[in-house]
Amino acid sequence: MPHPLHLTNQTGSAALHIEWDDDRHQVLSYFALRQACRCADCKAYTQRTGQALEPDPGVRLETLAPVGQYGVQLIFSDGHERGIYPWQFLREFG
Ligand SMILES: [Zn+2]
Repeated sequence: MPHPLHLTNQTGSAALHIEWDDDRHQVLSYFALRQACRCADCKAYTQRTGQALEPDPGVRLETLAPVGQYGVQLIFSDGHERGIYPWQFLREFG
C-alpha cells in the first residue's frame, strides 16, 4: 500500500492534491470529496435514498486533520466535519 507524502489544500483549484510515495499524484475536487463522504449520516442517506449526496457546488475544504496512520479527516465549509477518509479509499478514488 503506497503512503501519502504530502497533502495540499489547493484553494485556487478547489481541490485536494495528494502526492504519494510511488510518484503518483491525485487532484480530488472538494465537491467530489464532499459527495463521497463516508460518515454514518452520509452513508445512511445514500443507502436510504439510493442517491448520491448533493453538496453545495461551491463547498470548500476548510481543514485537513490526519487520523493516525489511517487517513484524514476533512472539514468542509458547509459545517460537515464527520468524514474520515481512509488512505486506501482516497487512493482508489476517482
Ligand atoms: Zn458525511
